[in-house]
Amino acid sequence: MKKFFMKNLYKLLLNRIYNPFFSTNIKPLPLEIYEDTKCLVIAPHPDDESIGCGGIMKLYPKHFDVISLTHGGDERAEEMKAAMDFAGVNSLKMLMLRDKHVIDGQEEFNQIDISDYDIIFIPYIFDQHKDHKAVSILLDNHLKTTKHKNNLQIAYYEVWSTINMPQYYMDISSVIEDKKTMINFHKSQISSKDYAGKIIGLNSYRGLLKSLDAVEAFSLMDVNNFRKIVSKLVNDI
Ligand SMILES: [Zn+2]
Repeated sequence: MKKFFMKNLYKLLLNRIYNPFFSTNIKPLPLEIYEDTKCLVIAPHPDDESIGCGGIMKLYPKHFDVISLTHGGDERAEEMKAAMDFAGVNSLKMLMLRDKHVIDGQEEFNQIDISDYDIIFIPYIFDQHKDHKAVSILLDNHLKTTKHKNNLQIAYYEVWSTINMPQYYMDISSVIEDKKTMINFHKSQISSKDYAGKIIGLNSYRGLLKSLDAVEAFSLMDVNNFRKIVSKLVNDI
């Protein structure tokens, strides 16, 4: 089973990542949020939303709804609410999936109404946290039966693993201090780790792509390609 998984993973990486890497020069494009673009950020845990998408949400708050799949207790829920109030996002919802068992929450996940959205932001599929990987699988399953816009796009954001070749970026230079503030609202999480410092470091490095001070990087794909990738990775093994 493991061998089969590795073989498929290798084929996928070769076809989807390394071949384009050698044959084309990918020039990241600015991610466009138009006047009527509706976005949903799905965070497995309170804090993922600010780490991966804090900048873009602060720039376009009224375009964003946010859902945390786990609640994490009253303290973490309050921290997230404060961060989202500060960002000024349209709405915040919290599901009650079990921490480290997000994959078991398909039934609750299927209650999320995604019919209205143009872009759904989720953690990168190769993120090394199992709850983060699980979101791709839950969303793929949900998409089998639920209504969604034909031109729905899925955007991967960065938390615990970086994206190899981000095709899209958002210049967050003007809101970098606000992003720090948003991350620092998650007080229970930053006591042992300097998330704000580390993540701003990543955003600063990502700025190299376009000679900007700070950038959030994304991998964006249409819903059909998203489903193909997930099924290659998951259903073939
Ligand atoms: Zn998380």
